[in-house]
Amino acid sequence: MQILDNLYIYLWQSSTENNCNSVVIDGKVPMLIDPGHLHRVENLLDRMRADGFDPGRIKVVVCTHAHPDHLEGALAFKKPSVKIAMSRQEERFIKEVGWPMYMAQGLTLPDFRVDFFLEEGDLSLGKHRFEILLTPGHSPGSICIYWPRHKVLVAGDVVFLQGVGRTDLPGGDATALKRSVDRLSRLDVDLLISGHGPALQGAHDIEANFRFILSVLL
Ligand SMILES: [Zn+2]
Repeated sequence: MQILDNLYIYLWQSSTENNCNSVVIDGKVPMLIDPGHLHRVENLLDRMRADGFDPGRIKVVVCTHAHPDHLEGALAFKKPSVKIAMSRQEERFIKEVGWPMYMAQGLTLPDFRVDFFLEEGDLSLGKHRFEILLTPGHSPGSICIYWPRHKVLVAGDVVFLQGVGRTDLPGGDATALKRSVDRLSRLDVDLLISGHGPALQGAHDIEANFRFILSVLL
């Protein structure tokens, strides 16, 4: 679904199968955030085409973290024209510690290379400027992508509508998660796109969501 001129959101809605929400930010360097499960990528590409966006234009695939339901589909973009990006901490985590999570789901960790590591701070892609925030807790190298110009926050599995990412998986850390959510709550956000569930629009509702999470859930 096209939300802004350059912003497309693909929410995953299924009560029987897990996959993540995906986001496309178009521009000179079109970016896909969180491709989801590999066997669902074709469906995602179809939805992009239905919106009039040619997925062959994607140049960067960013993974908020390396869990299978966010990263696995990156394999479908393994070609020289597409660069794969995540945090250095997350790549190390999934390759050294977290890979059995794939086996537990009957999957194998995709044989992927990370073309560039996302660090805390600014990320410029064409004319778009984003802020990368390292937000560990759900996973050690989780990142969020903030787009100040439109006050959009792509939060991965750090924060949801009335919820936060689980911390009982390998590498989870409840104390770090609380610190990360607290950081995100200080941003000026008009559109919160989480890794699962609905997107939340409107600064007032988003602030209320953060207040609820910080006072009740964490
Ligand atoms: Zn996750």
